[in-house]
Amino acid sequence: MEDGRQIIRRPHCLVLLYPAQGHINPMLQFSKRLDHKGVRVTLVATRFLRKTLKLDQHCLTSMALESISDGFDHGGFEEAGSDQAYIDRFWDVGPKSFEQLLQKLTLSSSVDCVVYDSFLPWALEVAKKFEVIGAAFFTQSCSVNSIYYHACQGNLKKIPQTDDHQSEISLPALPTFAMSDLPSFLDASGLYPAFSKMVVNQFSDIEKADWVLCNSFYELEPQVADWQSKIFPLRTIGPTIPSMFLDKRLKDDNAYGLSFYKEENDVCLNWLGDKPAGSVVYVSFGSIASLNNDQMEELAWGLKDSESYFLWIVREPEKPKLPKNFLDISQNKQGLVITWCPQLQVLDHEAVGCFVTHCGWNSTLEAVSLGVPMVAVPQWTDQPTNAKYIKDVWKMGVKAEADEKGIVRRETVKKCIQEVMQSERGKEMKRNAMKWKSLAAKACDEGGSSNKNIDDFVASFVPSAKCTLGGAQNPINTFSNEQNATVASGSL
Ligand code: UDP
Repeated sequence: MEDGRQIIRRPHCLVLLYPAQGHINPMLQFSKRLDHKGVRVTLVATRFLRKTLKLDQHCLTSMALESISDGFDHGGFEEAGSDQAYIDRFWDVGPKSFEQLLQKLTLSSSVDCVVYDSFLPWALEVAKKFEVIGAAFFTQSCSVNSIYYHACQGNLKKIPQTDDHQSEISLPALPTFAMSDLPSFLDASGLYPAFSKMVVNQFSDIEKADWVLCNSFYELEPQVADWQSKIFPLRTIGPTIPSMFLDKRLKDDNAYGLSFYKEENDVCLNWLGDKPAGSVVYVSFGSIASLNNDQMEELAWGLKDSESYFLWIVREPEKPKLPKNFLDISQNKQGLVITWCPQLQVLDHEAVGCFVTHCGWNSTLEAVSLGVPMVAVPQWTDQPTNAKYIKDVWKMGVKAEADEKGIVRRETVKKCIQEVMQSERGKEMKRNAMKWKSLAAKACDEGGSSNKNIDDFVASFVPSAKCTLGGAQNPINTFSNEQNATVASGSL
C-alpha cells in the first residue's frame, strides 16, 4: 500500500457444532479463546439449532453464524424420533450440506481451518477437499477418548453384562479399571447401538486429522495425554469454562451465554446468600439423565437425612418423580429444589461445600476448576470413567455405590455427603480440589499448557508469515473485527 501499510487477513476458522448443550458450550468457549487471539470465527450449527440458539452479546458481535442441514431442519433430534434415524440422516445429508457451505464461503473469503465436533468425523474429508486444516474437537476427557480409541482398534471387547463387572482391565497410560468403570456405551447390553457406534467411530480417521483438540488440561491427565500425543496430534485446550472463573483474561467472559433451559438465578443465589460457608450440597444430574422413581426417592430422603442444606436441580419432566410430601417438608427450609440454575455461579459460591453429580464431563471439569469436592453418582456414557478419576486419581470425591438393583440407597447418599462435608478425609478432598482449581487456572493463563497449545494450533493456520499472533496483550482483533485488519507494516 502507498502509505506503507498492508492488509493482513485475519485467519478464519469454521467451528462445526454438534447440537447438544454439553458439546456446544465447550466449542463456544474455545471459539471465544480463538477470537481473543485474533482468529475470525464462523460458528456452524444445524439449521434447527440455529433457529433456537440464543448467543450472548459477545458471540453475536464478534462471530458469524452459519448453518447446515442435518436432514431435520424443522425439529432436529426430536423430529428424527430415534438416535439411529437422526445419525443415519445427518451422516447422509450433513457432509453435502457442509460442502455447499464451504463452497459458498470460499467464494467470498478464505477459510483456513475447520474445527469439527469429533462426533462428526465426516467433516474432516470435506475440509480436506478444500485443502483446509482439519481439527477434531473432543468434548470428553483424554482418558475416555483413549478407551474409545482402543475399542476402535479392536483392543477392547464389549463389557460383559453380568458378574464380571468387577474384573479388571489394563490399558496403556490409564489406571486399572474395573469393567464397571468403563463408558456404558461399550456395554454388551447394546442399549444404545447408534451412540456406541458413534463414539467408537470418532477415531475411524483420526490419524488423518491435522489436530486433535481435547477439552481437558495436561496436568489433569498427563500420562494419557503423552501417550496419545505419540499416536495423533493431540493438544489439550481446556478447561473450556468462562475465563472469569479461570484466568480472568477475557473480561466479558463470565458465562457460557447459552442455555437450553430457563435459569432460576435470583431464587437460588438469594437462597445460597444467607447460608454459612461450605454448608450446602449442590445436586444436579445435568441436562439429559433421567432417574427412575426409586432412585429419585432414595436420593430425596438421603439428602434430607444428611442434615445438610441442599440445592437440587430437578428438571420439569423429573418433578413428578419426587416423593409426595418431599417439597412440603424441605422446600425453602433445609433444601431448595429448582429446575435449572447458573451452575458455574453456584459451584463458585462460598456456601457450596459439595457437589452430588452424575459426572458429566462438563460438570466434572467445572467442579475441578472451581475446587468443589464431589459425590459421584454416575449414570451412563462416560460418567463411570469420570467417577473413577474423581475418586481414585484426583482424589477429590467419593463414589456413591449402587446396590445390586443399580440404586444408590438413601443410607449411601447420607454417608457419602457426610464423608465429604464432615470427615478428615473430606478435608483432604477439599485440599486436593483446591490444588486442581489452581492448576486449571494456570493451564489457561499466559504461559499455561492449554494457552500454549491454543497458540500453537492458531499459528498453524495463520495466513501470513508476517502476521504474528497478538495473544492477550495484543490481539489482532484490537485493530478490527472485520474480515481484514489493516496494520502498519513492520509492526507485526
Ligand atoms: N448446568 C447448568 N445448570 C443446571 C444444571 C447443569 O448450567 O442447573 C450445566 C452445567 O454447568 C454443565 C451442563 O449443564 O455445563 C451439563 O453438562 P454435563 O456434561 O455435565 O452433562 P450432560 O448434561 O451433558 O449430561
